[in-house]
Amino acid sequence: MTASNVNPADRLKHLIHPWEPMGSFPSADRGFLSHAEGIYVYDEDGNKLIDGPAGMWCMQVGYGRRELAGVMAEQAMKMAYCSPWNFDHPLTAELAAQLAARAPGDLNTVVFTTGGSTAVDTALRFTSFYNNVRGRPEKKHIISREAGYHGSTYLAASVTGKDREHNYFDFETERVHRISAPNPFKRPEGMSLEDFAAAKVQELEDKILALGPDKVAAFIAEPIQASGGVIVPPPGYLKGCRAVCAKYDVLYISDEVVTAFGRLGHWFASEAVFGIVPDIVTCAKGLTSGYAPMGAALFSDRLIAEISGKQRQGVSFINGFTYSGHPVASAVALKNIEIMERDRLLEHVREISPYFQARLKELEEIPIVGDVRGMGLVACVECVISRDSKEPLKLDRAIGYRIDEHCHALGLVVRPLYHMCVMSPPLVIAKAQIDDMVGMLREGLVRAQEDVRREGLWQG
Ligand code: PLP
Repeated sequence: MTASNVNPADRLKHLIHPWEPMGSFPSADRGFLSHAEGIYVYDEDGNKLIDGPAGMWCMQVGYGRRELAGVMAEQAMKMAYCSPWNFDHPLTAELAAQLAARAPGDLNTVVFTTGGSTAVDTALRFTSFYNNVRGRPEKKHIISREAGYHGSTYLAASVTGKDREHNYFDFETERVHRISAPNPFKRPEGMSLEDFAAAKVQELEDKILALGPDKVAAFIAEPIQASGGVIVPPPGYLKGCRAVCAKYDVLYISDEVVTAFGRLGHWFASEAVFGIVPDIVTCAKGLTSGYAPMGAALFSDRLIAEISGKQRQGVSFINGFTYSGHPVASAVALKNIEIMERDRLLEHVREISPYFQARLKELEEIPIVGDVRGMGLVACVECVISRDSKEPLKLDRAIGYRIDEHCHALGLVVRPLYHMCVMSPPLVIAKAQIDDMVGMLREGLVRAQEDVRREGLWQG
């Protein structure tokens, strides 16, 4: 059966999407796209849309890059696959060195994975491996945060702090513990950012002390909680958490699956933006600008020294994937780094992001909008019942989806998250395109506001 002779009504009969609403399966059509160029995607009816979320926060250099397609084709012909169990491929080794050169501090050792979830899983599994090898098998517990998103494999989903009440999957609960998200928008009335940061850091320390420092292996945190609603932590929070982890010998995992590769104007955000050197960093997405699936976990020299060498005879790192360090993905990642450097994309993000943030901030004029926040080229618009209560505007049919529908008709894809919309465009976006994007988002918000007012769901 070829695509052309499939009855259009049956096209999705055989496919479960991520986060599929099973009540309407198999009819949850998300809209078919046909092609893409730069920051634009085109739907099957030929409509041109700005890709507000850059795919799934991954299309850093934009669509239609012939150079990336070229290296993929070339590498696929030369050698499409090279088993990492039996051989090394020079491109994979070169990529590991390039990542180590750009990573914070002494994070010089790379484990390649197939994407973000497997990078997080590798990092988490490493923490128990590390403690087992060091003769501390009781040091296994992991602390994560509400609103964090870390992926969809068993352990990565277990440390994710979202969607628990509607989730029918099972999770690791014995070893995973959660603390609250450091969302400045939700801080108590009148509390300074400084005091808020200190209280949240204290919460981490209290959790470690309650569990027992000899039992806690790791703390995992995104520098900015992306899927949780672009929560930018208050100044000093991440540094405080880093210091607490160091104090109790708890490994700090910085999940940079969204923030690495230029989203905040740097290769990695942990050190360059937030001033911390984690023990482990995970990345994916922008590593290949979404042209090939690939992720990586990077480990500090200190950790690797503790679990390797003569005294560790008989210890093997039994972790890895058929596609770890895939040569086609490695070729893409190397070319992607070259393009980002040649086109000065990190500098471009640093230059243009104040404009991006300022233009989006104007949307706070719209009554339904409670908060617009962000950093670099990622931002979120949060809709509220009222600005005084800051209570999220949660409706049966989420306001985010209504905004998305209106924006789609206007020529913009947004990433709806219940009562929030996330914008994280390809890094190549220009000022005039930001103006187009904000104009459409403004109109989409106003139209959605009118809908819910008319339907009596919002009285603002
Ligand atoms: N970590 C973070 C911070 C993410 O945002 C995501 C995905 O959005 C993941 C991990 C999981 O990555 P993947 O979907 O590539 O497995």
